[in-house]
Amino acid sequence: MKDLSSRLKYQTGEIHLRDGLATTGLALPKSNWAQRLDTPPYTAWPVTGGITFTFGGVRVDAAAQVQSTSWTPIPGLYACGEMVGGLFHGNYPGGTGLMSGAVFGRLAGAHAAGA
Ligand SMILES: Cc1cc2nc3c(=O)[nH]c(=O)nc-3n(C[C@H](O)[C@H](O)[C@H](O)COP(=O)(O)OP(=O)(O)OC[C@H]3O[C@@H](n4cnc5c(N)ncnc54)[C@H](O)[C@@H]3O)c2cc1C
Repeated sequence: MKDLSSRLKYQTGEIHLRDGLATTGLALPKSNWAQRLDTPPYTAWPVTGGITFTFGGVRVDAAAQVQSTSWTPIPGLYACGEMVGGLFHGNYPGGTGLMSGAVFGRLAGAHAAGA
């Protein structure tokens, strides 16, 4: 019955409500929403953490040149992607992570090639 209530919460988007279904005796305990795995076959995927957005990073100019502490371009040093700071604050529009990387990457390449 508790398992069913947990599943219903997940399906109705009430996952923020803790259900108290916890593991016991594991080195890394799970405090809520634990699901019993007792029916093979089992499938596993490797997972890793990722940073979606940093909001921080080095300052660049319109040619993607990294700025020194005296606000002058450091010759030959460019940045794009998550290395670049100052584009967004607090939140960001969807898709802008890859877009800013593409835009500043293009600017950096063009400037480095003397275009
Ligand atoms: C879960 C998730 C979902 C996202 N969804 C979106 C989305 O829908 N739309 C969107 O626009 N953006 C999305 N983003 C953000 C987007 O993925 C990043 O903004 C973008 O990938 C940043 O590109 P980057 O080249 O700056 O860094 P990365 O893509 O992180 O590339 C850095 C590369 O450098 C390599 N590297 C690190 N250290 C070294 C080293 N010492 N020597 C050699 N190589 C090294 C790494 O292996 C990596 O390949 C998402 C990010 C995450 C984590």
